[in-house]
Amino acid sequence: VALGGAPATRQVKLERECELRIEVAPDTPLRLRLLTGTAEIFGTEIAPEIWLTFPPRLKFAVFTWYGATIEMDGNTETDYTADETPMISYVNVHAVLEGRRNRAKASPSDVDLSQGPRVIVVGPTDSGKSTLSRMLLSWAAKQGWKPTFVDLDIGQGSITSPGCIAATPIEMPIDPVEGIPLEMPLVYFYGHTTPSVNADLYKVLVKELAQILERQFSGNAESRAAGMVINTMGWIEGVGYELLLQAIDTLNANVVLVLGQEKLCSMLKDVLKSKPNVDVVKLQKSGGVVSRNVKVRQRARSYRIREYFYGIANDLSPHSNIANFNDLSVYKIGGGPQAPRSALPIGAEPVADPTRLVPVTINRDLLHLILAVSFAKEPDQIISSNVAGFIYITDIDIQRKKITYIAPSAGELPSRCKLCMIPVRMVQGVLR
Ligand code: ADP
Repeated sequence: VALGGAPATRQVKLERECELRIEVAPDTPLRLRLLTGTAEIFGTEIAPEIWLTFPPRLKFAVFTWYGATIEMDGNTETDYTADETPMISYVNVHAVLEGRRNRAKASPSDVDLSQGPRVIVVGPTDSGKSTLSRMLLSWAAKQGWKPTFVDLDIGQGSITSPGCIAATPIEMPIDPVEGIPLEMPLVYFYGHTTPSVNADLYKVLVKELAQILERQFSGNAESRAAGMVINTMGWIEGVGYELLLQAIDTLNANVVLVLGQEKLCSMLKDVLKSKPNVDVVKLQKSGGVVSRNVKVRQRARSYRIREYFYGIANDLSPHSNIANFNDLSVYKIGGGPQAPRSALPIGAEPVADPTRLVPVTINRDLLHLILAVSFAKEPDQIISSNVAGFIYITDIDIQRKKITYIAPSAGELPSRCKLCMIPVRMVQGVLR
């Protein structure tokens, strides 16, 4: 132990098929490197000797198939070695998927046979869904495939920002620190972090996303054969369950991986038995998965949004811009009654139309909100259009009718469409 109680660098020897589970300290990053042997982090091999820097609070595991020595420099909240992991069963799934990809590749002209596996990962919150999705994608990418990652989890958002559903091809094993590269992902903005706020809108967006992906696949035999890995939300009861079934159906999933829930697995097996080409497979949850309470999850969301503007290592500097009120058209989706009460049959209550576009007057209520910038050219295209990126409102000057916002430095937002949609009361104040 070095002076001041800070630990010096230390080494951990890992036996074969063991993993080192780490939670980085809350305020300081952790440096780590591979000294001997081979090891991977959630499916991505790490290079020998090179120091990797992990941001505060990150939870991850370094797994080795054949044995390794790891060196760490810095504080951790916890770190321990585990010799019981479900990794063998996970890699067996990967092997089966690999076989299906090869079969698909061998018959590029056959509409059905040319379709590679479409895997959907389901289970309760904190069952390791995102982690398993990541491993399957990284292992596939390592073999040279370019599988499509579809993230339907609006709560955390591993592709862009929370509040979205998104898809992106994975061309390389996912970087253990940087995560998924942000090269032109297909993003649809939902604007809330729970689907119950507007489940109908969620369904519409999943359909839109599925349609575009279907179109892309039909023109690209390579990505069609590689297939997709779909990550889902942890909401598996009631409407959540219904949304899962809708996702399986809409995205034509043919492999359903159920993590750590007997009941969900048997329910899905039961309803899907009418579809003989869909396999439902139960997998064990890893003991390393860290449960996060509502607070921790909220905080993770805020950091995720911060990352979008400032980068993981605070290495990006967002641009601050000023616009006139009438340079910007702001809308929200949903809300507003569908029909006036007078037009309804006696006794009927007006219901809110879930996909109605409602213009929003710019005022101080927009302060500290995230707005999505749509690719739509006209307002009526907003729902069916994906989004170019996000802005964060930092000031609103009512007198001068000026709005100040920050936008990420990477890639200017398309100027032709200053149409924005606002999330209702999402992520308020996280960047202050
Ligand atoms: P879900 O997607 O089901 O909510 P995640 O895959 O996001 O669950 O896992 C929850 C947390 O646990 C994440 O922070 C993840 O990095 C961490 N985690 C998952 N597997 C392990 C493991 N084997 N060792 C350490 N941390 C892990």
